Amino acid sequence: MPDPNGFLRYDRRLPARRPVPVRISDWREVYPPAGEELIREQATRCMDCGIPFCHDGCPLGNRIPDWNDLVRTGNWDAAVDSLHATNNFPEFTGRLCPAPCEAACVLGLGGQQPVTIKQVEVEIADAAVARDGLRPRPASASTGRSVAVVGSGPAGLAAAQQLARAGHTVTVYERDDAIGGLLRYGIPDFKLEKQHIDKRLAQLTAEGVRFRTGVEVGVDVTAEQLRAEHDAVLLACGALQGRDTPETPGRALRGVHQAMAHLVAANRVVAAAGDGKPAPATLPDGTPIDAAGKHVVIIGGGDTAADCLGVAHRQGAAGVHQLDLYPEPPTERDAARDPWPTWPWVLRNYPAHEEGGERVFAVAVQEFVDDGTGQVRAVRIAEVTVEKVDGRRIVTALPGSEREIPADLVLLAIGFEGTEEQPLLAQFGVTRNGRGAIDSRPDWQATDGVFVAGDMHRGASLIVWAIAEGRAAAAAIHTYLGGVGDLPAPVDPARQPLAAR
Ligand SMILES: Cc1cc2nc3c(=O)[nH]c(=O)nc-3n(C[C@H](O)[C@H](O)[C@H](O)COP(=O)(O)OP(=O)(O)OC[C@H]3O[C@@H](n4cnc5c(N)ncnc54)[C@H](O)[C@@H]3O)c2cc1C
Ligand code: SF4
Repeated sequence: MPDPNGFLRYDRRLPARRPVPVRISDWREVYPPAGEELIREQATRCMDCGIPFCHDGCPLGNRIPDWNDLVRTGNWDAAVDSLHATNNFPEFTGRLCPAPCEAACVLGLGGQQPVTIKQVEVEIADAAVARDGLRPRPASASTGRSVAVVGSGPAGLAAAQQLARAGHTVTVYERDDAIGGLLRYGIPDFKLEKQHIDKRLAQLTAEGVRFRTGVEVGVDVTAEQLRAEHDAVLLACGALQGRDTPETPGRALRGVHQAMAHLVAANRVVAAAGDGKPAPATLPDGTPIDAAGKHVVIIGGGDTAADCLGVAHRQGAAGVHQLDLYPEPPTERDAARDPWPTWPWVLRNYPAHEEGGERVFAVAVQEFVDDGTGQVRAVRIAEVTVEKVDGRRIVTALPGSEREIPADLVLLAIGFEGTEEQPLLAQFGVTRNGRGAIDSRPDWQATDGVFVAGDMHRGASLIVWAIAEGRAAAAAIHTYLGGVGDLPAPVDPARQPLAAR
């Protein structure tokens, strides 16, 4: 029986982040582990609601009140089992998820503070590692059926683990030199140290999952070969087609890059340093892309932009501006626009924003300004208003509001336009829809025997959705292969986040 007065006795509290001057001098995670006392106190705030709306916020259907109570009473082993029952990788979501469950928590109503669900989750996940080092759970018997998973992000890995545990032979094909998708080279170490991925991979390997890195399906291996070698194929190639702004004058100048180019280069440097091979941050063609000593301008307001900000500070940028097209959001939920328990439009202050830089809202770049040698020296911006007319975004510049911001390095973090156009698509006979994603039938098949999940299916989204789709697609593949019993399918392909309209 949970403590019905816990939320009256305790306020919402999170562990202190490492001090800014300390953390920007290294790449380690921003949050230190929380003490057990704090986590048990915070779990005590959960009311075990008759209708736990936190469940509706989470696409995985995490059993949040159950594990909150198990933590409150110190039953860590049972909490680990309860968490793993719905989530293959809580150490990723516990660190990285923006926590739609917390936005939907009943304690968030009426100005109260929601339960620190995500912090409880990560502490349970880390306890699992500390207790038994992620004990492998190999299948007791093989089905004799084989599945190819293309792409090793959270969607592909969740599906691979589910299918391997159900007795299928699973091979994950990844074109990069390391497994993990965006978790590996997209998301910086200060949000997710890569040891967490490596520990999970050791578990998947022990459960029989085979990994083939440096293999681009559609180029190094054809779709036909994959179909011949496997009984089913899952495409989980992400939504990595970065949005660009080719019409803006000066886009071709040196120093103007896609944000992902900067993040991947920086993350590779950190990985190489960990391997004892320090190297400067460069693009694949050797062009340096490092913020050290530079005036950096980041265009965009989401996760990717915040990650670039944190990387720029750790690389020693001279100054950073982050530009957002939209006006500054309110600090509290606007109940008329985004009523509880939906995801609210509010100002999100990531830890990276604590570390410095200036955010400029309601502006648009008019020109990347040339220094006369083909290198960017500034961005010319204008204040703007943005309105939606017939579903189209109309951006209007305010006359006389233009000004320049110095810039030696400009990073475009303005979103993604779906999965990349690549040879694999035509070879499998699938095409991108209007959003650049790959549609599926209700049973996750994009075409006969070829399934699709994660960002490739949904468009650029979140890790928690990628894991949920990977689990659900695995369940569909298991059924397709005539597997015995059902695997859990937390979402169907049409499921959308909670929304008021
Ligand atoms: C910079 C950044 C920061 C983010 N931060 C967060 C965050 O804090 N929290 C959060 O919830 N979400 C975050 N996201 C979103 C999250 O990372 C994605 O939603 C998630 O990784 C999608 O998982 P996925 O498995 O569908 O695809 P991905 O992780 O994109 O993995 C796809 C993989 O497929 C591989 N691939 C593609 N084509 C082929 C081919 N032909 N052959 C072989 N392999 C192929 C790619 O190399 C890649 O490794 C962030 C995204 C970005 C870009
Ligand atoms: S909605 Fe909040 S208080 Fe209610 S069960 Fe879920 S976490 Fe606990």
